[in-house]
Amino acid sequence: MKFTEEFIHRFRSRITKTQTCWLWTGSLDYKGYGAISLSGQMLKAHRVAFHLRYGRWPSPCGLHGCDTPRCVRVGKAHVHEGTCADNTAQMMRRSRNYTGEPRLGISNSAAKLTPRKVRSIRRLRKSRMALAAIGVLFGISQSQVHNVVAGRHWRHVR
Ligand SMILES: [Zn+2]
Repeated sequence: MKFTEEFIHRFRSRITKTQTCWLWTGSLDYKGYGAISLSGQMLKAHRVAFHLRYGRWPSPCGLHGCDTPRCVRVGKAHVHEGTCADNTAQMMRRSRNYTGEPRLGISNSAAKLTPRKVRSIRRLRKSRMALAAIGVLFGISQSQVHNVVAGRHWRHVR
């Protein structure tokens, strides 16, 4: 990934440093992660922060040790890399992903979604947002977005 100077400047101008977290003041994605666009592509701000420090994307996942999705401070207690399972385990522990929605549909492959997100995805798609961009916003694959839009998953949600 090649970042332009304009992009880096734009990125740096949207950070407010606190004693602990460095908070993203730009736009946020659906899950509350900082989001910034680069040539039409939406990137997660904390992943960009990691890339600017290490010259590569966090692999396999960029995690927040501070549990603050909009934090872009790279470091062990804040944005660090780890396995995606860690991320899920952390989230489960903090029960942040509990939505109170009925379990219907949760067992299918688009398990990260909730009925509310499904409706948003369909709305965004109707407004002609690219499948890939929607996938980035919701942290799911392009084919999962397609399945949701086509009604192959979450058919019961209208
Ligand atoms: Zn933090």
